[in-house]
Amino acid sequence: MERQSRWTLRAAPHLVKATYKVCPWCSKPIGKQFDCHHWLIKRGRLPKVMFPEIDVVVNVIAVHHSCHMQYGQTKEFERRCAILASETFGPEVILKWYNSVSERTNLQPKDSLGVQ
Ligand SMILES: [Zn+2]
Repeated sequence: MERQSRWTLRAAPHLVKATYKVCPWCSKPIGKQFDCHHWLIKRGRLPKVMFPEIDVVVNVIAVHHSCHMQYGQTKEFERRCAILASETFGPEVILKWYNSVSERTNLQPKDSLGVQ
């Protein structure tokens, strides 16, 4: 049996928190209460049947609820998520995962996350 890669582990909240530890927006530690944010591929982009593929640790970051509510829809929020995820997994890993999903959807493949 092939061992599952860490970045494709199912994004259970405790695992998401343990992976990132700090909020991508304010860089302060994540406490008991937090939101799980799909930063790279949003659920709205794909049919429900593909949700398990994007509910993975590489795509879901723990964020403070207040930071999420205030800034979650901004480009800067997405940029800071890309930086934190890149520091955690490396941009190559994130792009490899993203492009493997994009091959089977109408998402455009990427050759960069734009933050390196
Ligand atoms: Zn925050």
